Amino acid sequence: MSKKSGLYAILNHKCPRCRQGDLFKYSLLSKPHKFTATHKTCPKCQLIFEREPGFFFGAMYVSYGLTMGVLLATAFILYNFFGDPDLVVYITAVPLIVLLLLPVIFRYSRTLYLHGFGGVKYDPKYVKQSD
Ligand SMILES: [Zn+2]
Repeated sequence: MSKKSGLYAILNHKCPRCRQGDLFKYSLLSKPHKFTATHKTCPKCQLIFEREPGFFFGAMYVSYGLTMGVLLATAFILYNFFGDPDLVVYITAVPLIVLLLLPVIFRYSRTLYLHGFGGVKYDPKYVKQSD
């Protein structure tokens, strides 16, 4: 996948304008407890990520959609590959999976919302060649 593609930028939580700067301060693997720490501006091109006050509240709608997807996928897998277990398994497993994936859902909802509704287009003049 090209490092300049929009899909690469979304999958790796990169800035929508330069597609190089990180949206989040820490990697999920190095500091998972700080999964919400978001840069105020792009470290590479200084784009202000919070496009207007409260901008990221809108990411809750994306988060809702992603959570419903995870919920339905978990239920689908339980039903089809684990022989439709007892209701108690669904009631335990589905929220557990959603809770475990919360940092991932949070980050992708912000990234998708910024890329989709941030009103910022990719601009190659902000790409720094030094990387
Ligand atoms: Zn940038």
